[in-house]
Amino acid sequence: MGCLRGSQCIRNTPRLLIVLPSMSFGHMTSRDKLESIATNLWWTWTPDARSLFRRLNPEVYRASDDNPRAALATAKDEVLNDSSFQDDVDAVYQRYRDYMERTPQVEDAPETAYFCMEYGLHESMPLYSGGLGVLAGDHSKAASDLGLPFTGIGLFLREGYFRQSFDADGWQEATYPVLDPAKHPVSLVSEGGGDPLTVTVPIGTHEISVRAWKVALGHTDLYLLDTDFDANPDEYRPLTRRLYQGGDHERIRQEIVLGIGGLRMLRALDVTPDVYHANEGHCAFLMLELLRERLAAGDDVAEAETWVRDRSVFTTHTPVMAGHDHFDPDLFSEAMAGFRDEIHLSNHDLLGYGRVHTDDHEETFTMTVLGLKLSRAANGVSELNGHVARQQWEDLYPDRALDEVPIDAITNGVHLPTWTAGPARDFFADHIHVDLTEAQDPDDWAALADLSDETLWDFRCSLRERLLNYVAEKVQAQSLPMHLDLDPEALTIGFARRFATYKRAPLLFRDRERARALFSDADRPLQILYAGKAHPDDDAGKEFIRRIYALSQEAGFEGKVVFLENYDMEMGRMLTSGCDVWLNNPRRPLEASGTSGQKVAAHGGLNLSVLDGWWPEGYNGNNGWAIGPEPTGDYGTADPEVQDEQDAASLYRQLEEGVLPTFYTRNDDGLPTDWIDMMREAMTGVPAPFSAKRMVLDYVEEMYRHDG
Ligand SMILES: *Cc1c(COP(=O)(O)O)cnc(C)c1O
Repeated sequence: MGCLRGSQCIRNTPRLLIVLPSMSFGHMTSRDKLESIATNLWWTWTPDARSLFRRLNPEVYRASDDNPRAALATAKDEVLNDSSFQDDVDAVYQRYRDYMERTPQVEDAPETAYFCMEYGLHESMPLYSGGLGVLAGDHSKAASDLGLPFTGIGLFLREGYFRQSFDADGWQEATYPVLDPAKHPVSLVSEGGGDPLTVTVPIGTHEISVRAWKVALGHTDLYLLDTDFDANPDEYRPLTRRLYQGGDHERIRQEIVLGIGGLRMLRALDVTPDVYHANEGHCAFLMLELLRERLAAGDDVAEAETWVRDRSVFTTHTPVMAGHDHFDPDLFSEAMAGFRDEIHLSNHDLLGYGRVHTDDHEETFTMTVLGLKLSRAANGVSELNGHVARQQWEDLYPDRALDEVPIDAITNGVHLPTWTAGPARDFFADHIHVDLTEAQDPDDWAALADLSDETLWDFRCSLRERLLNYVAEKVQAQSLPMHLDLDPEALTIGFARRFATYKRAPLLFRDRERARALFSDADRPLQILYAGKAHPDDDAGKEFIRRIYALSQEAGFEGKVVFLENYDMEMGRMLTSGCDVWLNNPRRPLEASGTSGQKVAAHGGLNLSVLDGWWPEGYNGNNGWAIGPEPTGDYGTADPEVQDEQDAASLYRQLEEGVLPTFYTRNDDGLPTDWIDMMREAMTGVPAPFSAKRMVLDYVEEMYRHDG
């Protein structure tokens, strides 16, 4: 069992100051308590809660991608009636109550509305496609942990994230399971318990109705907008169904729903935050709607713009110019026709908010430009990404030097309660008596340095073994046939992420024979686990998967190069907790931050990564390895072929001279002492500064708070 040891694991957690009327839960049955826990996604980052649902009906729970409602609907009576099970339910329920009643940890935090296209909350609710969504989910969960006044806005993506399978040649196929609200902890927002609450948004010359589903995320409420109901013509119903599909025509409509519809929904809910955070450009129309509100209230344009800027902050993630959402002026004018009538601005003025050069009639409307023009503060998501963003948008600020372009950086972090494996939490609680995932003080992590080599190595080996058991089970059930010859004691590398080509999944095989030599060395066994989805329209990404699959069938690689199908958050948790080394070799500077590598450190995993995204800030020379040269100022200008060649050579060198010898040099007790020292460096130094808690506190102090 996990951390059910009461106060010792939640040291430093402020206790409830207000004394609530004492409540007795005696009248609640275990089922009642579990039903109550299942309605709040708090359970998703509480391994002990998840294990209760699993015990109710392990087969059904697993088959439903760990959906508590499914487990409850088919709960076995003998489990529910078992007294030790009931004791465990009581303990978890008490922790849930304690969590919900604890006091806010930030004084006078501004009330914030957070807008994002996607949210990665849990594998049972596929409302995300990758890093942006996982980040938004982690941000919202950390906001809940800190007790911030915080409301999230997103889309109810019924078919958000496709399920990946393969044909016989290893070519990816996508199916879209439909999320059934009745089976998930979402509730349709209604007006005083009656009809669904709806708002309307103008799309072209039509009025479209939008309703919302509420998701409880600890203290935080997340509202997911939905156009897929009978008030809308068929043409408009699918707008909120899927992520990043269709052409610009669909995209701009979806973004009108998110930004304009999202703000209108907040108003209908009576939410009037102090600050609006647009996370990436997709939702930036929210700022035009704020502008419309002020103009309607009687402000002149200058006053209205000042008001909007005073309350808006913007985060950009996109390191490629072409990657910023941008719309043809004619498309924009057509899609925004109804809104233009409402805001009473000319088409030219409206277009100007999304143009670097306002009077350039050819220039497209770029969502990032809108976000930058109508916010008071903007940031990239790592120091390096901030630098790239300043280069990208330098022209917007002709009077400023490059380093004075007003785009700062707040480096992404991960929600440790979500990403720390249950056994790792137990390990921390047992050995240093702290729930490190909740710890307030980064120094708490330092205590891990005092653990013996043997203790740390046992920890590492047990997590690797747990992963390999999971892999064996997964491979049996997948459509892509995969022979396994995995060794529980062998150096295990993980590579799991979206198969966008800039991430260069096959880089390790650029020199096939050199790679084969690495995998064929019987004295230093090596194995690598791949997972990831290519965007359904990205044939080059699918080709990368097919190549890895073909390699996995070749002599010398077979059984040791493994592709796992259908990467999702569960697989992400397993891989990042179990692998010894986390490989990341994007073409710099295209990894805005990356967060998966941050997840490995708490588990004693080591990063082997290009110095891109967060890694230049995380890498200290002793806590992992760097691939390729140090970053210099001219990001993005290196010839890709040259970068590929250099980085592959560096990757081989690091594996041959660094990673493998360090792992396989053992002392008389069979322990890799230098490796374990590197684990200590990673475990003590990486998790706290790259946690979502640190990140959200930075957002509060640097972005949300405003004394203007
Ligand atoms: C952590 C995570 C991500 C984001 O990490 P990257 O390093 O940006 O790839 C994406 N998908 C899943 C399933 C994850 O767990």
